Amino acid sequence: MPVNNRIAETHEEMQAWRRDLHQHPELCFEERRTAAIVAEKLRSWGLEVHEGIGVTGVVGVLKGQGTSSRTIGIRADMDALPMQEENEFAHKSTIDGKMHACGHDGHTAILLGAAKYLAETLNFDGTVHFIFQPAEEGGGGGDAMVKDGLFDRFPCDGVYGLHNQPGMPRGTFNVRTGPIMASADTAVMKIRGKGGHAAYPHLTNDPIAAGVQLYTALQTIVARNVGPVDNAVVSVTQFQAGTGINIIPQEATLSASIRAMTAQIRDLVESRIREICAGVAATHGVEITLDYQRRYPSVVNHEKETQIAARAAVEVVGHENVNMDTPIRMGSEDFAFMLEACPGCYFFLGTNDETHFHAVHHPEFDFNDEVLSIGASIWARLVEQQLPRQ
Ligand SMILES: [Zn+2]
Ligand SMILES: [Zn+2]
Repeated sequence: MPVNNRIAETHEEMQAWRRDLHQHPELCFEERRTAAIVAEKLRSWGLEVHEGIGVTGVVGVLKGQGTSSRTIGIRADMDALPMQEENEFAHKSTIDGKMHACGHDGHTAILLGAAKYLAETLNFDGTVHFIFQPAEEGGGGGDAMVKDGLFDRFPCDGVYGLHNQPGMPRGTFNVRTGPIMASADTAVMKIRGKGGHAAYPHLTNDPIAAGVQLYTALQTIVARNVGPVDNAVVSVTQFQAGTGINIIPQEATLSASIRAMTAQIRDLVESRIREICAGVAATHGVEITLDYQRRYPSVVNHEKETQIAARAAVEVVGHENVNMDTPIRMGSEDFAFMLEACPGCYFFLGTNDETHFHAVHHPEFDFNDEVLSIGASIWARLVEQQLPRQ
């Protein structure tokens, strides 16, 4: 079975919603217009609507026909990015410096399309929670919703999320069981030495010399501590020191972005960074203070729910377009917080074709509207398969 016919008929409508959202991008936790539109549409289709969860998050509750107590959560993210759009089409962003460059406008329209169809047909027995979350782009909106009691107030047997993927052919479903995206942490290492005259280095404790060795030692974590077939990244992205050419400074600061495939690797990398900082400090007679911040955990798909999502996708896009072994991405995604709190699955929906090939976060990116019906059909089939009528 390809795309659901009734959903395909709403293509123009979904496209209009998506393009309207694209014209009015809103950043992390500022998605007030978007959330209001989502809430208004869900209400108009008869859903029970809860607003202000995790600041600007919205949950729509739809009960099917029958008495089943089973539940499903489906999530879309709503936020845009602080960047200037370089497209010139009619639906380009109307707000300078803000742009839907990650396709969250599309994710929101897809989930609205699924909600409209399921509210009209009610061909399921159980409860669907439509979760529209804020602040995916670095704001931790998924975490905010979970901390605001998302799964206590709206329990879900499984929770599902999708992301468009311009790197994969249009209409392909790409998933894997276990880790699919990495954790993302930051480390800021402040080195305090003893400054002085460049001509008399023996009277100083040079923080630049310590910083260079720290940089080099950090490279050995991935090369010599993380297993060869495991995945981690330690990228030192900032190294700041010094004010004058004849001055050995008092301080130097290194900052790093850290990615890991699993919680165990994440723990290992963090503990090695701590040990290396202590070792370099002792070697150079400097003080190193480490500010290590755990930001997003890795996105880990549960096996059963991954099979469930794939089963729905097979019916919509066919076996030949379902890839169960997509490579892990070292980027991050705050759906991870939902998967820590509830079993579920996160997958990539391919969007690449002759006109849609820019990567997400590119200034000429635009969500490929041709997959709106595909995404909404996958959500609809997932609900109908998992919450069948008796
Ligand atoms: Zn993004
Ligand atoms: Zn995104």
